[in-house]
Amino acid sequence: MQLNKKFSPSLANYLNQCSLRFYYDSLELPQLPIYVPQADLGSEIHQIIKLYFQNIVDKPSSKQIRHIAEKTFEAVFTLTAQKAKAKRLLENFITFEIERLKSWKTYKPELIESKLELSSETCKTTFDLNLPEGMVTFVDFYGNKTLIDWKTGTIPYIDENTQFQLAFMKMLLEYNNHNVEKAYIVALQSGTVLELPRTTNGWVTNQIKHILNIIETEQFKPHRTRLCEGYCKYELRCEFNQQCLWM
Ligand code: SF4
Repeated sequence: MQLNKKFSPSLANYLNQCSLRFYYDSLELPQLPIYVPQADLGSEIHQIIKLYFQNIVDKPSSKQIRHIAEKTFEAVFTLTAQKAKAKRLLENFITFEIERLKSWKTYKPELIESKLELSSETCKTTFDLNLPEGMVTFVDFYGNKTLIDWKTGTIPYIDENTQFQLAFMKMLLEYNNHNVEKAYIVALQSGTVLELPRTTNGWVTNQIKHILNIIETEQFKPHRTRLCEGYCKYELRCEFNQQCLWM
């Protein structure tokens, strides 16, 4: 089987979570309707951060940071049932921004929620990767030679999957002539900041080759986690030994 879409960190994450679910998607099988409230929350918080940076001045005061962040939140946020949680994320965002203001040379980002792509030809010639549709990623924040990936969940430490996602973004930024000296995950729920450990582009491309090998050789396996209970579109199919009850 060939990958017929652009390779991205979210695709890698999706496949790493459960490769069987990825395979079922490719077969376009019937799916259970599922709703993941965290996904909607993440999308609104990212939208608020983007608008915040569009509205904030180049050298704001702490008071302006709080005022613009809270004003943007009130104008954009719609998920009433998740408002208390979202307020905590906002408060941690404001705290982080006020701290960042004190020490960073330039406050405003050069890139915010920006799409970066590499063509199939560049993937082949630069990284020796066979990706018919190329690669794509979205960079949450880049400025002051620093990459930031905002996460709306709790990230206690950088595991291999998170390391890959962050290092992949860094690699694409560097390919697009942006010098990246530091890369951070900012986990807004727990208010923690985690730095990307030293990671080479060779390690990143080997991870991509490993994922492509799983797809090409169709080594799809179920990976049972908490996702299987209420968050997977194929929960029934898996539970009944891969027999679909309605086909
Ligand atoms: S139910 Fe679990 S093991 Fe089965 S496809 Fe979904 S995520 Fe994978």
